[in-house]
Amino acid sequence: MAVAEPLWTSTEIAEATGGAASAPFAVSGVAFDSREVGQGDLFVAMKGETTDGHRFIDKAFGQGAAGAIVSEPVAHPHILVPDSAAALEALGKASRKRMGGKVIGVTGSVGKTGTKEALFQALDRAAPGQVHRSVKSYNNHVGVPLSLARMPRGSAYGVFEMGMNHAGELSALTRQVRPHVAIVTAIAPAHIEFFGTEAKIAEAKAEIFEGLQPGGTAIIPYDSPHVALLYNRAERHAARILTFGASPQADVCAREAVPAPGGGTLVTATLPDAELCFTVAAPGDHWVSNALAVLAAVDAVGGDLAAAGLALAEMPGLPGRGERRILPVAGGQALLIDESYNANPLSMTATLKQLGREKADRRIAILGGMRELGDRSVELHAGLVEPLSAGRVDYVILVGAEMAPLADALGVTIPYAHVADTAAAIPLIQSEIRAGDAILVKGSNGVGLSRLVAALGENA
Ligand code: ATP
Ligand code: MG
Repeated sequence: MAVAEPLWTSTEIAEATGGAASAPFAVSGVAFDSREVGQGDLFVAMKGETTDGHRFIDKAFGQGAAGAIVSEPVAHPHILVPDSAAALEALGKASRKRMGGKVIGVTGSVGKTGTKEALFQALDRAAPGQVHRSVKSYNNHVGVPLSLARMPRGSAYGVFEMGMNHAGELSALTRQVRPHVAIVTAIAPAHIEFFGTEAKIAEAKAEIFEGLQPGGTAIIPYDSPHVALLYNRAERHAARILTFGASPQADVCAREAVPAPGGGTLVTATLPDAELCFTVAAPGDHWVSNALAVLAAVDAVGGDLAAAGLALAEMPGLPGRGERRILPVAGGQALLIDESYNANPLSMTATLKQLGREKADRRIAILGGMRELGDRSVELHAGLVEPLSAGRVDYVILVGAEMAPLADALGVTIPYAHVADTAAAIPLIQSEIRAGDAILVKGSNGVGLSRLVAALGENA
């Protein structure tokens, strides 16, 4: 029986981190959250503002940890370092250094996880088992090094999500990831309270190009109002720039996009050296946009475009990010579109536009607040009237105090109910729902609309 090569040996970890090993061990995975530790994993005990990972050492080893990185000696096999977070970063960098494949970094105000997952599926289809990706939205100063440290040494591709809410963060992350290809999915007023203007957000997102490898490719959204800024910043670091978008001028463009017979969108895309016809399973123009970025990246790494096209046709909906469910209700069915994970003005507009295209007797939008919009919050919430009209919405349930400006702005244009919180919205929609409804549920994660989605699912 072949024995799988370990992800890390204690010798390698000690060398990468400059720490000292208490005993020899080998690990097959890495985790810093004790709840995520599995058999054979390395547990990185980190000191946070509120918790100290060292308190969970016994728990981690009880769950099967094979070794730990610690900043205080413990009674289990470990590597002792001065600072566990710095050690994780060093391990991530060592992982990146020993990896001989191609690395792709994904950032943007929206669509990072969706694009990262689609890119993973697209590459994995042609190189099964050889593609590593960050899980969930592990995209910050601990998530990125963790994702790097988890990369199997022989990976052909690594796909990493990178996020930020302050200038300078991506600059640091991209120097760890050192991508061959860097994607900016879209620019939107997410986290604008920390930036002031969208241009500053674009500027901060463009930091991703700073880590590009020599000969690297930057992939940017042609239809963004900030394309010139992104292009200018990309030129400083990239050997090649690929734009993507609906405009025919984009290097990777959707020449034609029509509803696909089985749902989703049938796209004919033009790439620099190819033309490709494929289906994007996830409905909505925003998914077509993400798919074009995926194809641009596959093209840039010399991957298999046809396999990528097939993968996009099978992309499963992601929980909270557009997953669709059919709910059995009295006399028939209703469609539930679960967008409960995240919301900002751009993604609200994109998903409401798609709601308008759904075949339905009645369209209902259950909307929670968009967080981190700072002093533009009132204006941007009130600004949802137009997207709601474009989405041909018949009835709106507004959830939470942040939605008051939208309630005011709606006036008598579209019937609405405004409730204090998710708990109050649940019985309302339960009594309202009927056969033939298409229901979009969208709000920032903190509003807790996922509980409403779960409650509707239980009734089904
Ligand atoms: P986070 O910053 O929370 O990690 P993210 O950038 O990873 O977010 P996703 O989780 O991929 O973003 O998508 C969040 C939501 O944004 C989706 O549910 C969808 O509504 C919307 N969305 C995805 N892609 C786009 C896009 N290209 N343009 C506009 N909206 C999009
Ligand atoms: Mg994400």
